[in-house]
Amino acid sequence: MPSPPDRPRFEGDPRGPRRAVTDRFLCDAMLAHLARWLRAAGYDAELARPGTDDRTLLDRARREGRILLTCDRNLPGDGLDILRLPMVELSELARILREERGVDWLRAPFSRCLVDNAELEELADPAAAGVPPPARQLPGPFTRCPRCGRLFWPGSHVRRMRRRLERWRAADAASKGFPGESSVA
Ligand SMILES: [Zn+2]
Repeated sequence: MPSPPDRPRFEGDPRGPRRAVTDRFLCDAMLAHLARWLRAAGYDAELARPGTDDRTLLDRARREGRILLTCDRNLPGDGLDILRLPMVELSELARILREERGVDWLRAPFSRCLVDNAELEELADPAAAGVPPPARQLPGPFTRCPRCGRLFWPGSHVRRMRRRLERWRAADAASKGFPGESSVA
């Protein structure tokens, strides 16, 4: 079982992550794909607009209490929690976030809008909301973004994304030496 998401974990904690965990992130504009995947996993991950200057980025991270994720190796620390990421493939970024900040890639899958980060609302009546008939045959959940109005359901794209999240989470269990947890239902 994954740890409760809101329970902070600290350096030296035998459960693994070596830094305190908050569950809110601010990604610089270079990391749009990572923001999308953090949202898919259920994390509150905001994305800075292209061209945002350093001061605005740092001020926002501080004001909103977010871990700043950046590819900019030269961004000043400024007393903030900043994780400077190398330019590597996504699965490697997933590993770094897991190990450095305790990210659980199956925290609350598909509970946030992939586009704008809003928390999704479950639809009481998918048909009335406009979910097309073939999709309504799926087991659900059917959700809507209150911000942009997009509808989400567990179609093939979402299922592929979920399998990827499961692989990243399984790698976590394997790396901790609990092979019994490496297969995720
Ligand atoms: Zn949205």
